[in-house]
Amino acid sequence: MEEELRIVPFECQRCWHVWEEDYVVRHQEDQHGNAAEIWLRNGLPVPPPSAAAVCPKCGCQKAKVFPDGYLTRHPELIKQAEPAAPDETPLLSPVRRPLY
Ligand SMILES: [Zn+2]
Repeated sequence: MEEELRIVPFECQRCWHVWEEDYVVRHQEDQHGNAAEIWLRNGLPVPPPSAAAVCPKCGCQKAKVFPDGYLTRHPELIKQAEPAAPDETPLLSPVRRPLY
């Protein structure tokens, strides 16, 4: 039985937060000799990473799973995960009339 640590990157499709989750993948064979993978988190079996992952930031369940090592090749995504500073300019509506 072999165990492998996998760090799976996710991206939230709602707030664009990017985060990673650590999994341990246990490779074993079933009784028919077929290779099977068991995914563990904190020692407990979990479903393989999927789009149902919950965003730690906004709590929504619309995440995208990136392939292993994706963020290593795309470090710019981690920077973009920071929310943009809110625009301090007040929105004036309707447009203020010129003062005569
Ligand atoms: Zn989110």
